[in-house]
This record gives sequence, structure tokens and C-alpha cells, in this order.
Amino acid sequence: CYDGPRAAEILKKRTEFLSPSMFYFYKNPLNVVAGKMQYLFDEDGRRYLDAFAGIATVGCGHCHPEVVNAIVDQTQRLQHSSVVYLNHVVADFAEALASKLPGDLKVAFFTNSGTEANELALMMARLYTGSHDIISVRNSYHGNASGTMGTTAQYNWKFNVIQSGVHHAMNPDPYRGAFGSDVEQYARDMQEVVDFGTSGHVAGFISETIQGVGGIVELAQGYLPAVYKIIKKAGGLCIADEVQSGFARIGSHFWGFEAHGVLPDIVTMAKGIGNGIPLGAVITTPEIAQVLTRRNYFNTFGGNPACTAGGLAVLRVIEREKLQENAFCVGSHLKGRLKSLQEKHEIIGDVRGRGLMLGVELVTDREKKTPARAEILHAMDLMKDMGVLVGKGGLHGNVFRITPPLCFTKEDADFLVEVMDIALSKM
Ligand code: PMP
Repeated sequence: CYDGPRAAEILKKRTEFLSPSMFYFYKNPLNVVAGKMQYLFDEDGRRYLDAFAGIATVGCGHCHPEVVNAIVDQTQRLQHSSVVYLNHVVADFAEALASKLPGDLKVAFFTNSGTEANELALMMARLYTGSHDIISVRNSYHGNASGTMGTTAQYNWKFNVIQSGVHHAMNPDPYRGAFGSDVEQYARDMQEVVDFGTSGHVAGFISETIQGVGGIVELAQGYLPAVYKIIKKAGGLCIADEVQSGFARIGSHFWGFEAHGVLPDIVTMAKGIGNGIPLGAVITTPEIAQVLTRRNYFNTFGGNPACTAGGLAVLRVIEREKLQENAFCVGSHLKGRLKSLQEKHEIIGDVRGRGLMLGVELVTDREKKTPARAEILHAMDLMKDMGVLVGKGGLHGNVFRITPPLCFTKEDADFLVEVMDIALSKM
């Protein structure tokens, strides 16, 4: 039972006192006042199935009691900076994360966000290699501080700062990419970026394995092994941005890069690792981690005890509740049902993704792949009115992003598809 301020009042205050850059979904934005597992509740107590929780929380689901208790318990004992003093929770979480990563990837540096994690990863690559050039993939999203804005390559976000020494390779997007799924041609483009855009020596390459903000774009299979080889030959480090695709979300593997058979030098993560609290991490090898001893680098709250206690609880819950397996089973079922929906609705141009990181791209013309920009907004509003929340993204803003908590069930998946079916029938 909620008796706080209503949506209209909050919106008015927000318009006056918060940055105009902040955006929201829906014609009438939702005032969400509570969350429980895969559900959100609005000011009237109306329940919504949250199929877009992945942007902030993860598998454990909203307000998972074990995670909440771990955070509250630690906060009651001590909440402080992670620097200067010892605290076992921070070290325990680093150890637990190391056990989830392959090879020699076992040294963590904690941050408060994905942006900070990627900024640090870029800096480490530059320090380690002594080179400056960074290559990222067009349509990627890596954050919104100056370095990560440079690597983020999406013109519609209009905030790419121009940076020297940052290059954007062609996007190996099987649906819209210039070369479809032809990995050889994308690899040739990468080689040309190295040969003609840099001194031949690069600091690193950063990439998501499934682009999230970019509209759930799975990189063409075979691309990462091919370009990792090119980057390594040019002396660079390979950075896997697992902020969205990591932490069991893709189901088949714990990390997105594992589905591509590559071993990165640095892995960055955030969002899901804290089930909604501010926490990020950069994990690398002991040898690469050494570069930070060459500078004075710290982060007051990165990996603070309360957040890392939450992170430890998240790992426990993912394991005990078998959330990776669930993401695989429910995700496969959901993708299959969305593919069937594609046969029924001409407006669905593409269904893609893995596990519980799925995208449905809407087009008004399948041949020309004309983005259905207005239609998707209308469909999202209709779905919200029927009790289902999905996200939206992609370069043209015409892709449903479906990234529910990993505790999503088959029944939830069926309900989502039925609601999407009704909404698209009204287009
Ligand atoms: N990398 C990826 C892949 C992301 O999706 C995001 C956030 N959307 C970030 C980095 C930046 O994370 P944050 O917003 O926590 O800074």
C-alpha cells in the first residue's frame, strides 16, 4: 500500500529540479514503488512483469531477500571505503569472482559502475602496452565518461567526444552489418583499421559480445577469435565488456566471451553483479594488474563492504537457484516462441540474442529493413497497459530489448509473448 507522491507530482518536480537529459519510457511514465523478483508494482499496486530488469538488477530478481539481507547486515556493521583498511568481504568477493573466470584472470579492481570499469580497463591497456590507440566496434556502448564516450560508437546518442587514438571498426552485425555474417570481411576491416589508422601498435580492443544498448546485436560467430588474433599481433590487449552479457545472463555460459571461444586479457563487469546496487569490476591477470602500481590510483567507494557483501550474495543465489540453467531453458523457450511470432507478424524483422538477453527488431518493410520507430513506442505502451514491461534500443530505436531477471519462468515468457502478440496485432 503506497501513499507517497503520485506520478504527476514527481514528474513536475523532476522537470524542475532534475537534469533535462533524463529520459523515461511511456507516454505516461510509470511511478514504480516496489519490486519483488520478476515483478514491479506501481503507485496503485498494479503488478507488472518486468522483462527489462537486466539494465539494472539481475538474475536474483528485485529485492531478493538473501541479497537485501546481506547488504543490510553489512551496512549495520560497517559501511566504509574499500581503501586504507582491511575488510574480509571485499577480498572474499574478489576471490569468488576469480573462481568464475578462466585462465589467469584473477585479480580484481572494484568500481561503482560499468563506465568506471571500462575507463580503468582502457587506461590499463595503455599503461601495459605503452601504446595509445584503442579500437572498438561501431554500435557499441561502453559508458559515458570521456574515454568510454570515445569508444561508444552510436551517432544517435550524440555524445561521442572526439578522441585522438580511438577507432571504430565495422560492426559484425549479422542482420544490418555491411557484410552480413561474413567474418572474413569484418576481420579485413579490422586489419585495415590497424594498418592505416594506427602506427601498427595498438593498446587494445574493447567489445561487448552481445551489444545491449545497440539493440541486442550478437556479434557474428567467429569474429572475436579473428580480431583477437589481429589485436594481439599488433601488441594490444583484448577487453571483454561483460556489463550486460556477463553473470549467467546468456544461459549457455557464465560470460559472453566464452560463447565465442576467446580468452580476453581484461574483463569488465557491472549491473548484474550487485543485483541493482552500484558495483563494477575490472578483472585481469596478475601481470597486467601490476601496471596500476605505477600510478596512484584508487576509488573511494569502488568495492565497498556493503556492495561487495551484496555481490557475494548474488553469486551464491545464482549458483543455488541454478539461474544460469534457468536463463538457458527459459531463454531458449522464449526465443523459440518469439521466432514463431515473427512468422505471424510482418513487422518483426529479426529475433536474436541468447538466454535471457533477447532482441526483437521491428521494421515496416522487411526487404528494406525500415525501422518501425513510431510503432515500437505504441506497442510498448500497449504492452505496459497489459502488464508487461520491455525495453527499447538499437541505433534506430526500433528493437525490443528483453532482459528479464534470470528467475523469469516459462509461464512469464508465454505471458510476455501473448501480450506482445496482442500489441502487434493492433499495429
Ligand atoms: N558497458 C555496457 C555494455 C553497458 O551496457 C553499459 C550501460 N548501459 C555500460 C558499459 C556503462 O555502465 P554504467 O551505466 O554502469 O556506467
